[in-house]
Amino acid sequence: MEPKEAYIKAGKIAAEVLARGIKYIEEEAFILEICEKVEDDIRKLGGEPAFPCNVSQNEEAAHYTASPNDRKVVKKGSIVKLDIGVHIDGYIADTAMTVGFSSTWDRMIDAARWTLEHALKAIEPGMGFSTFGKVVEGKASSLGFKTIENLAGHKLGKYTVHAGESVPNRGGPSVGIFKVGEAYAIEPFLVDRRAKAYVINKGHSNIYRLSNPKRVKDKGLRNLVMDIWNSYKGLPFASRWVYAKFGESGLSKLKRLEELGVVHGYPILVESSGAPVAQFEHTVLVDRESILITTIKK
Ligand code: MN
Ligand code: MN
Repeated sequence: MEPKEAYIKAGKIAAEVLARGIKYIEEEAFILEICEKVEDDIRKLGGEPAFPCNVSQNEEAAHYTASPNDRKVVKKGSIVKLDIGVHIDGYIADTAMTVGFSSTWDRMIDAARWTLEHALKAIEPGMGFSTFGKVVEGKASSLGFKTIENLAGHKLGKYTVHAGESVPNRGGPSVGIFKVGEAYAIEPFLVDRRAKAYVINKGHSNIYRLSNPKRVKDKGLRNLVMDIWNSYKGLPFASRWVYAKFGESGLSKLKRLEELGVVHGYPILVESSGAPVAQFEHTVLVDRESILITTIKK
């Protein structure tokens, strides 16, 4: 399959799974069940998860997935981000949506959706990220919201979710440009204008990535490293997935690999002033003449 075809196929699956998945999110629903259903849907439709299903609530901006025996539920009155990744042969679709369980969140959710729509319309082949970031920041601000300063979109690469370049949601000195033939995830994160609009690391997300596949002496650990590499290449994976294959012993090996610096465990990204966050995200493929949004449901 050509890369373009794979990007389009991954995007189509991601759009369908996100539309279904957002309906799994209800007050007091188990995060574990939501994550497993979403990831099952991805596989049933012929894709593979490009990273674990993220369900982040309230001031959690991103990067929470259920642990193997997670008992967490969707909190009453919360604002919830569902962020999913699908890949076909390593070509990734990354897309997210926000749902709120109180009318308090309606304005911010609408603003985040609207800001993304306008951000997508602004993209042109060769456009500078700095100009783009200024547009995004301006759109959010015109509705009374701030974009989170240190959360950005990103270039996508084969089996790479963050392929080096960040696509900012603020104006600033970024030197990058939207290049023809490249794919990018576009994702403004919005908070109330009184918030700090800055995220910090807090707690463990249950998401991991093989970061340094150096040789480990222990045979059991080595086998787990091999399995992770063969199964996910460089892509992020969930401790749940290791548990499903190898049980408790797999989890303790995973912990050991994290201590050895062979795998990296991601923290949860939390808004530093405790402000609730809204996010929408689409993946775009920059063509010579046009911008193709791969994750829009037709
Ligand atoms: Mn995402
Ligand atoms: Mn993304």
